Amino acid sequence: MCFNWKNMDESRSREELSLGEISRIADNFKGLHSLVLSGGEPFLRDDLHKIVSEFHKRTPVQQVSIPTNLFCDGAPERIKEMALQHPNVLFRVLISIDGIGEDHDIIRGHKGGFAKLMANLERTIVYRREIRNLSLSSITVLSSFNSEKIRPTIDFAKGLEIDDARILYVRGDTREPEAKDVSLDQYRQCLEYAEQSTMRRDRTGSFYDNLINCVSLVAKEEIARPAGSGRLTRRCNAGAKLIVISETGEVLPCETLPRKLGDLRDHDYSVASIMKTDRAKDVLGFIRTGKCACSMDCNSAVSNVVYSPFLYPRVLKKYVSLRRSGHVSTI
Ligand code: SF4
Repeated sequence: MCFNWKNMDESRSREELSLGEISRIADNFKGLHSLVLSGGEPFLRDDLHKIVSEFHKRTPVQQVSIPTNLFCDGAPERIKEMALQHPNVLFRVLISIDGIGEDHDIIRGHKGGFAKLMANLERTIVYRREIRNLSLSSITVLSSFNSEKIRPTIDFAKGLEIDDARILYVRGDTREPEAKDVSLDQYRQCLEYAEQSTMRRDRTGSFYDNLINCVSLVAKEEIARPAGSGRLTRRCNAGAKLIVISETGEVLPCETLPRKLGDLRDHDYSVASIMKTDRAKDVLGFIRTGKCACSMDCNSAVSNVVYSPFLYPRVLKKYVSLRRSGHVSTI
Protein backbone atom coordinates (compact mmCIF):
# COMPACT_ATOMS: atom_id res chain seq x y z
CA MET A 1 0.00 0.00 0.00
CA CYS A 2 3.01 2.33 0.56
CA PHE A 3 3.09 5.31 -1.87
CA ASN A 4 6.89 4.97 -2.01
CA TRP A 5 6.86 1.44 -3.46
CA LYS A 6 8.04 2.34 -6.98
CA ASN A 7 11.00 4.24 -5.63
CA MET A 8 11.90 1.32 -3.35
CA ASP A 9 11.66 -1.19 -6.21
CA GLU A 10 13.71 0.95 -8.61
CA SER A 11 16.35 1.97 -6.08
CA ARG A 12 17.46 -1.62 -5.42
CA SER A 13 19.70 -1.43 -8.44
CA ARG A 14 21.11 2.01 -7.60
CA GLU A 15 23.76 2.91 -5.11
CA GLU A 16 22.62 4.57 -1.87
CA LEU A 17 24.32 7.75 -0.68
CA SER A 18 27.30 6.96 1.53
CA LEU A 19 27.80 8.63 4.90
CA GLY A 20 30.55 10.77 3.33
CA GLU A 21 28.19 11.97 0.62
CA ILE A 22 25.49 12.73 3.21
CA SER A 23 28.03 14.80 5.19
CA ARG A 24 28.71 16.86 2.09
CA ILE A 25 24.99 17.45 1.60
CA ALA A 26 24.70 18.55 5.25
CA ASP A 27 27.72 20.85 4.81
CA ASN A 28 25.85 22.69 2.08
CA PHE A 29 22.56 22.84 3.95
CA LYS A 30 23.04 25.63 6.44
CA GLY A 31 19.39 26.59 6.98
CA LEU A 32 18.01 23.16 7.85
CA HIS A 33 15.84 23.11 11.00
CA SER A 34 13.73 20.01 10.60
CA LEU A 35 14.93 16.68 9.25
CA VAL A 36 12.74 13.67 8.45
CA LEU A 37 14.56 10.36 7.98
CA SER A 38 12.07 8.11 6.29
CA GLY A 39 12.11 5.06 4.06
CA GLY A 40 11.28 2.36 3.27
CA GLU A 41 12.45 1.66 6.77
CA PRO A 42 15.11 4.04 8.17
CA PHE A 43 16.43 1.54 10.75
CA LEU A 44 17.65 -0.70 7.94
CA ARG A 45 20.57 1.72 7.69
CA ASP A 46 23.06 0.74 10.38
CA ASP A 47 24.58 4.23 10.31
CA LEU A 48 21.33 6.08 10.99
CA HIS A 49 22.76 7.60 14.21
CA LYS A 50 25.80 8.79 12.28
CA ILE A 51 23.58 10.51 9.70
CA VAL A 52 21.85 12.37 12.55
CA SER A 53 25.24 13.36 14.00
CA GLU A 54 26.45 14.66 10.63
CA PHE A 55 23.39 16.91 10.27
CA HIS A 56 23.62 17.98 13.91
CA LYS A 57 27.28 18.99 13.50
CA ARG A 58 26.73 20.91 10.28
CA THR A 59 23.23 22.42 10.44
CA PRO A 60 20.99 24.11 13.04
CA VAL A 61 18.59 21.12 12.98
CA GLN A 62 16.22 21.18 15.98
CA GLN A 63 13.89 18.34 15.19
CA VAL A 64 14.49 14.88 13.75
CA SER A 65 11.41 12.84 12.80
CA ILE A 66 11.72 9.13 12.13
CA PRO A 67 8.71 7.25 10.73
CA THR A 68 9.29 3.55 11.35
CA ASN A 69 7.58 0.17 11.36
CA LEU A 70 9.66 -0.61 14.48
CA PHE A 71 10.26 -4.16 13.26
CA CYS A 72 14.07 -4.03 13.45
CA ASP A 73 15.85 -5.69 16.35
CA GLY A 74 17.68 -3.15 18.48
CA ALA A 75 15.68 -0.15 17.17
CA PRO A 76 14.60 0.96 20.69
CA GLU A 77 18.21 1.05 21.90
CA ARG A 78 19.28 2.99 18.80
CA ILE A 79 16.51 5.53 19.38
CA LYS A 80 17.58 5.91 23.01
CA GLU A 81 21.22 6.36 22.01
CA MET A 82 20.43 9.07 19.43
CA ALA A 83 18.17 11.02 21.78
CA LEU A 84 20.68 10.90 24.64
CA GLN A 85 23.54 11.89 22.35
CA HIS A 86 21.67 15.00 21.12
CA PRO A 87 19.69 16.36 24.10
CA ASN A 88 18.93 19.66 22.32
CA VAL A 89 17.26 17.97 19.39
CA LEU A 90 13.65 16.80 19.62
CA PHE A 91 13.33 13.23 18.30
CA ARG A 92 9.84 12.45 17.06
CA VAL A 93 9.46 8.73 16.43
CA LEU A 94 6.35 7.95 14.38
CA ILE A 95 5.30 4.33 14.59
CA SER A 96 3.11 2.78 11.91
CA ILE A 97 0.06 0.99 13.29
CA ASP A 98 -2.33 0.13 10.47
CA GLY A 99 -4.43 -2.37 12.35
CA ILE A 100 -4.41 -4.64 15.38
CA GLY A 101 -2.60 -7.99 15.37
CA GLU A 102 -3.10 -9.96 12.19
CA ASP A 103 -4.81 -7.01 10.44
CA HIS A 104 -1.60 -5.02 10.74
CA ASP A 105 0.47 -7.93 9.45
CA ILE A 106 -1.79 -8.41 6.42
CA ILE A 107 -1.72 -4.71 5.47
CA ARG A 108 2.06 -4.53 5.98
CA GLY A 109 2.65 -7.90 4.31
CA HIS A 110 4.84 -9.02 7.21
CA LYS A 111 3.76 -12.04 9.24
CA GLY A 112 4.68 -11.59 12.90
CA GLY A 113 5.34 -7.89 12.36
CA PHE A 114 2.79 -6.72 14.90
CA ALA A 115 4.32 -8.86 17.63
CA LYS A 116 7.79 -7.46 16.86
CA LEU A 117 6.41 -3.92 16.82
CA MET A 118 4.75 -4.34 20.21
CA ALA A 119 7.83 -5.89 21.80
CA ASN A 120 10.01 -3.04 20.52
CA LEU A 121 7.45 -0.39 21.42
CA GLU A 122 7.31 -1.65 24.99
CA ARG A 123 11.06 -1.08 25.40
CA THR A 124 10.95 2.29 23.61
CA ILE A 125 8.21 3.47 25.98
CA VAL A 126 10.36 2.53 28.99
CA TYR A 127 13.27 4.61 27.59
CA ARG A 128 11.00 7.52 26.69
CA ARG A 129 9.89 7.90 30.32
CA GLU A 130 13.39 9.13 31.14
CA ILE A 131 14.20 11.05 27.95
CA ARG A 132 12.51 14.42 27.62
CA ASN A 133 13.59 15.08 24.03
CA LEU A 134 11.92 11.91 22.77
CA SER A 135 8.33 11.88 21.59
CA LEU A 136 6.37 8.84 20.41
CA SER A 137 3.37 8.95 18.10
CA SER A 138 1.44 6.31 16.27
CA ILE A 139 0.60 6.88 12.61
CA THR A 140 -2.31 5.04 11.04
CA VAL A 141 -2.76 5.41 7.30
CA LEU A 142 -6.47 5.41 6.55
CA SER A 143 -7.08 3.27 3.47
CA SER A 144 -9.79 0.96 2.18
CA PHE A 145 -7.88 -1.87 3.88
CA ASN A 146 -8.53 -0.61 7.40
CA SER A 147 -11.39 1.90 7.11
CA GLU A 148 -13.88 -0.58 8.60
CA LYS A 149 -11.78 -1.05 11.72
CA ILE A 150 -10.25 2.40 12.02
CA ARG A 151 -11.91 3.36 15.30
CA PRO A 152 -10.77 0.27 17.22
CA THR A 153 -7.29 0.89 15.80
CA ILE A 154 -7.32 4.49 17.05
CA ASP A 155 -8.66 3.32 20.42
CA PHE A 156 -5.88 0.76 20.60
CA ALA A 157 -3.26 3.45 19.89
CA LYS A 158 -4.87 5.72 22.47
CA GLY A 159 -4.42 3.02 25.06
CA LEU A 160 -0.66 2.96 24.53
CA GLU A 161 1.65 5.13 26.60
CA ILE A 162 2.50 7.42 23.69
CA ASP A 163 2.13 11.15 23.03
CA ASP A 164 -0.48 11.09 20.33
CA ALA A 165 -2.30 8.95 17.80
CA ARG A 166 -2.36 10.32 14.27
CA ILE A 167 -4.20 9.51 11.09
CA LEU A 168 -2.86 9.97 7.58
CA TYR A 169 -4.99 9.96 4.47
CA VAL A 170 -3.75 7.39 1.95
CA ARG A 171 -1.91 9.30 -0.76
CA GLY A 172 0.17 9.11 -3.91
CA ASP A 173 0.56 6.24 -6.32
CA THR A 174 -0.17 3.23 -4.11
CA ARG A 175 0.97 -0.28 -5.08
CA GLU A 176 -2.65 -1.48 -4.79
CA PRO A 177 -4.87 1.18 -6.42
CA GLU A 178 -7.91 0.00 -4.45
CA ALA A 179 -6.21 1.17 -1.24
CA LYS A 180 -7.36 4.68 -2.15
CA ASP A 181 -11.07 3.77 -2.16
CA VAL A 182 -11.73 5.80 0.92
CA SER A 183 -13.56 9.12 0.97
CA LEU A 184 -12.52 12.50 2.29
CA ASP A 185 -15.61 12.37 4.45
CA GLN A 186 -14.39 9.17 6.13
CA TYR A 187 -11.04 10.87 6.70
CA ARG A 188 -12.77 13.91 8.23
CA GLN A 189 -14.70 11.69 10.64
CA CYS A 190 -11.53 9.85 11.62
CA LEU A 191 -9.72 13.10 12.32
CA GLU A 192 -12.49 14.27 14.62
CA TYR A 193 -12.31 10.98 16.44
CA ALA A 194 -8.51 10.88 16.58
CA GLU A 195 -8.12 14.48 17.71
CA GLN A 196 -9.64 13.54 21.04
CA SER A 197 -6.70 11.19 21.47
CA THR A 198 -4.08 13.91 21.06
CA MET A 199 -3.27 14.13 24.72
CA ARG A 200 -0.25 14.04 26.91
CA ARG A 201 -0.01 11.19 29.30
CA ASP A 202 2.36 11.15 32.21
CA ARG A 203 4.58 14.06 31.31
CA THR A 204 4.49 17.50 29.73
CA GLY A 205 5.78 18.19 26.24
CA SER A 206 7.88 21.19 25.33
CA PHE A 207 6.21 24.34 24.01
CA TYR A 208 7.79 23.65 20.61
CA ASP A 209 6.59 20.05 20.54
CA ASN A 210 3.04 21.07 21.45
CA LEU A 211 3.01 23.91 18.95
CA ILE A 212 4.08 21.62 16.12
CA ASN A 213 1.35 19.25 17.23
CA CYS A 214 -1.21 22.06 16.81
CA VAL A 215 0.29 23.03 13.43
CA SER A 216 -0.18 19.44 12.34
CA LEU A 217 -3.82 19.41 13.51
CA VAL A 218 -4.58 22.61 11.56
CA ALA A 219 -2.86 21.11 8.50
CA LYS A 220 -5.11 18.08 8.75
CA GLU A 221 -8.23 20.24 9.07
CA GLU A 222 -7.22 21.99 5.86
CA ILE A 223 -6.66 18.68 4.07
CA ALA A 224 -10.07 17.42 5.20
CA ARG A 225 -11.94 20.40 3.78
CA PRO A 226 -14.09 19.75 0.72
CA ALA A 227 -11.99 19.99 -2.45
CA GLY A 228 -11.04 23.54 -3.33
CA SER A 229 -12.44 25.18 -0.20
CA GLY A 230 -9.22 25.23 1.82
CA ARG A 231 -6.94 28.20 1.20
CA LEU A 232 -3.96 25.99 1.96
CA THR A 233 -4.75 23.59 -0.84
CA ARG A 234 -4.18 26.43 -3.30
CA ARG A 235 -0.72 27.36 -2.05
CA CYS A 236 1.85 24.65 -1.71
CA ASN A 237 5.44 25.56 -0.83
CA ALA A 238 6.93 22.12 -1.50
CA GLY A 239 10.26 22.58 -3.25
CA ALA A 240 10.65 26.08 -1.83
CA LYS A 241 10.49 25.40 1.92
CA LEU A 242 10.69 21.63 1.93
CA ILE A 243 12.48 19.13 -0.27
CA VAL A 244 12.80 15.37 -0.39
CA ILE A 245 16.20 13.76 -0.98
CA SER A 246 16.04 10.16 -2.10
CA GLU A 247 18.49 7.52 -0.87
CA THR A 248 20.42 7.93 -4.13
CA GLY A 249 20.61 11.74 -4.01
CA GLU A 250 17.72 12.74 -6.25
CA VAL A 251 16.02 15.92 -5.08
CA LEU A 252 12.22 16.13 -5.36
CA PRO A 253 9.80 18.81 -4.19
CA CYS A 254 7.73 16.41 -2.07
CA GLU A 255 6.95 12.72 -1.62
CA THR A 256 4.12 12.77 -4.15
CA LEU A 257 5.05 14.78 -7.25
CA PRO A 258 7.39 12.66 -9.43
CA ARG A 259 9.22 15.64 -10.98
CA LYS A 260 12.90 15.65 -10.14
CA LEU A 261 14.55 18.99 -9.33
CA GLY A 262 18.01 17.54 -9.88
CA ASP A 263 20.57 15.03 -8.70
CA LEU A 264 22.95 15.93 -5.88
CA ARG A 265 25.69 13.74 -7.33
CA ASP A 266 25.68 15.97 -10.43
CA HIS A 267 25.74 19.21 -8.41
CA ASP A 268 28.59 18.73 -5.96
CA TYR A 269 26.08 17.74 -3.25
CA SER A 270 24.62 21.24 -3.13
CA VAL A 271 20.85 21.71 -2.94
CA ALA A 272 21.35 25.45 -3.54
CA SER A 273 23.10 24.70 -6.82
CA ILE A 274 20.20 22.48 -7.97
CA MET A 275 17.69 25.20 -7.11
CA LYS A 276 19.42 27.57 -9.55
CA THR A 277 18.85 25.29 -12.53
CA ASP A 278 16.13 25.89 -15.14
CA ARG A 279 14.79 22.43 -14.46
CA ALA A 280 14.22 23.22 -10.76
CA LYS A 281 12.77 26.64 -11.57
CA ASP A 282 10.30 25.02 -13.99
CA VAL A 283 9.07 22.56 -11.36
CA LEU A 284 8.79 25.26 -8.69
CA GLY A 285 6.88 27.48 -11.13
CA PHE A 286 4.49 24.61 -11.85
CA ILE A 287 3.79 24.24 -8.11
CA ARG A 288 3.67 27.97 -7.33
CA THR A 289 1.05 28.67 -10.00
CA GLY A 290 -1.29 26.14 -8.38
CA LYS A 291 -1.10 23.60 -11.21
CA CYS A 292 -0.26 20.81 -8.80
CA ALA A 293 -2.77 19.35 -6.38
CA CYS A 294 -2.89 16.41 -3.98
CA SER A 295 -4.36 15.50 -0.61
CA MET A 296 -1.13 16.94 0.87
CA ASP A 297 -1.20 14.64 3.86
CA CYS A 298 2.58 14.57 3.96
CA ASN A 299 5.30 16.75 5.42
CA SER A 300 4.40 19.51 2.98
CA ALA A 301 1.10 19.99 4.83
CA VAL A 302 2.88 20.99 8.04
CA SER A 303 5.38 23.11 6.14
CA ASN A 304 2.56 24.91 4.34
CA VAL A 305 0.95 25.88 7.66
CA VAL A 306 4.28 27.01 9.12
CA TYR A 307 4.75 29.37 6.17
CA SER A 308 1.14 30.62 6.02
CA PRO A 309 0.79 33.44 8.58
CA PHE A 310 -2.96 33.71 7.94
CA LEU A 311 -3.30 30.33 9.68
CA TYR A 312 -1.38 31.34 12.84
CA PRO A 313 -4.50 32.53 14.71
CA ARG A 314 -6.05 29.09 14.18
CA VAL A 315 -2.91 27.35 15.42
CA LEU A 316 -2.89 29.56 18.49
CA LYS A 317 -6.60 29.00 19.10
CA LYS A 318 -6.07 25.26 18.90
CA TYR A 319 -3.14 25.47 21.29
CA VAL A 320 -5.16 27.47 23.84
CA SER A 321 -8.17 25.21 23.47
CA LEU A 322 -6.18 21.99 23.87
CA ARG A 323 -4.23 23.45 26.76
CA ARG A 324 -7.44 24.45 28.53
CA SER A 325 -8.77 20.96 28.12
CA GLY A 326 -5.50 19.57 29.49
CA HIS A 327 -4.47 17.93 26.25
CA VAL A 328 -1.24 19.86 25.85
CA SER A 329 0.93 21.54 28.40
CA THR A 330 4.16 23.46 28.53
CA ILE A 331 7.35 23.11 30.51
S1 SF4 B 1 0.45 19.94 -4.20
FE1 SF4 B 1 1.01 17.93 -3.37
S2 SF4 B 1 2.03 16.83 -5.04
FE2 SF4 B 1 2.00 19.02 -5.57
S3 SF4 B 1 3.95 19.79 -4.82
FE3 SF4 B 1 2.45 20.17 -3.20
S4 SF4 B 1 2.62 18.35 -1.85
FE4 SF4 B 1 3.61 17.85 -3.81
